[in-house]
Amino acid sequence: KIRTRIAPSPTGDPHVGTAYIALFNTVFAKSQGGEFILRIEDTDQVRSTPESEQAILDSLKWLGLNWSEGPDIGGPFGPYRQSDRKDIYQRYSQQLLEQKHAFHCFCSSERLDTLREAQRLAGDDIGYDGHCRHLSETDVAAKLAAGESHVVRMVVPEEGTCIIKDLLRGDVEIEWQQVDMQVLMKSDGLPTYHLASVVDDHLMEISHIMRGEEWISSTPKQLALYQYFGWQPPIYAHLPLLRNTDKSKLSKRKNPTSITYYREMGILPEVLVNFLGMMGWTMPNGEEIFSLDAMVQAFDINRMSLGGPVFDLDKLNWLNGKYIREHHTPAQLLQRLVDWKFNETFATQLMPLVQARADTLADIAPLLMFFFQGNPAISEASFADLKTENEELMQLLQWVLWKLEARQDWTKAGIFADIKAVAEQREQKLKDVNAPIFIAITGSAASVSVMDAMALLGPDMTRGRLRHAIG
Ligand code: ATP
Ligand code: GLU
Repeated sequence: KIRTRIAPSPTGDPHVGTAYIALFNTVFAKSQGGEFILRIEDTDQVRSTPESEQAILDSLKWLGLNWSEGPDIGGPFGPYRQSDRKDIYQRYSQQLLEQKHAFHCFCSSERLDTLREAQRLAGDDIGYDGHCRHLSETDVAAKLAAGESHVVRMVVPEEGTCIIKDLLRGDVEIEWQQVDMQVLMKSDGLPTYHLASVVDDHLMEISHIMRGEEWISSTPKQLALYQYFGWQPPIYAHLPLLRNTDKSKLSKRKNPTSITYYREMGILPEVLVNFLGMMGWTMPNGEEIFSLDAMVQAFDINRMSLGGPVFDLDKLNWLNGKYIREHHTPAQLLQRLVDWKFNETFATQLMPLVQARADTLADIAPLLMFFFQGNPAISEASFADLKTENEELMQLLQWVLWKLEARQDWTKAGIFADIKAVAEQREQKLKDVNAPIFIAITGSAASVSVMDAMALLGPDMTRGRLRHAIG
């Protein structure tokens, strides 16, 4: 039975890369009569947040990429959130220790830092040096009894070559010498991604792992774990990463990467799916406009190409325009607009912002225009009235952007606290910090309260506009 999965880590905005990988996993599974499931990999407890998990689930649902088992709907192999499976990993870690496929490591972070630095200077980044691997059982028992902080590391073969049989790439060879003795259990007793994902993929009976090529270098460790456990490894297919138009790896510095951003910008979900479907795949008839169902019908993994697919915004907008013009009646288009933002729920939140500023109803729409637009048209001249060097203003906006990029809960009070902190750090008046933010967000110096505006626009549009203003 074919079973594929998407296994996002809820550590940030829902990434278009996650949607792209989820799409190919869904299409492959469905085209073979299999199942596609969703698992949340939140073993990094510091960076994982419930908000991010929710946003990932919401975005994938918005795109219509539905899973048949997952943390929200359960299923026969649950729980589907790794933080709810801690005992399972403990058991398997114990098994590896008993079978000498893993060992306790008591090295301090200072020792590891020194080791790393020495390796860096020698230009030889071979990873952990095996210092604790041959500690005697009595030593280990004594250290454990004394409560010394420790991790569990896996043993890796010392020589030879690991051959990864990749469905898209053929045999990929990696020397075992280049593979680090990976930490499997952290000092807090939680597993790392490597142990947790191997255990879960096995227990959840995943047959095919389709993921980004950035994970190829992790595959040898995972294959070694399958071997230690005596399990049949899944079939791997490492998909090419999405690229910026300059061919570098898609990154939010150059291109918005959050799915929510595209939703807010008025891209239709079926268009984003169609567009992501063009990343490494073409329909046999060469047709550029296709639905998820049509892709499932026609899918053949052997027709996927490995050339770096370019996430080209112009092409996405072109495609969206084609759908708007050719695939909607006027009434359907209106309905899309209503579903998007022209609805009572959203408008209700806007009224308190304009009530004090309007004499007639006709005054209101211009004040609210920027909520329904893409990035405002701004240039250096837009900031001229502030009578401050443009370079300094841009630096200030960059500081604000850094602060707001780190913010996880998106509330007016939180945003205000960040901006106030920037003003204090830069020893500037709040009003002088607010002024350029105002212009970057709303496109004009006279508008509704910028804190309210940012809270309602949401993190993606706010950060996107700041990035746009900084240029
Ligand atoms: P950025 O460089 O924009 O910060 P990132 O690599 O840090 O991106 P992560 O938050 O680490 O992004 O990734 C989130 C998910 O998106 C991961 O599952 C990752 O595999 C996937 N992803 C990130 N970048 C790409 C890409 N260029 N192509 C395909 N998938 C990607
Ligand atoms: N949690 C990993 C991620 O964030 C999953 C990688 C994999 O698919 O094995 O992408």
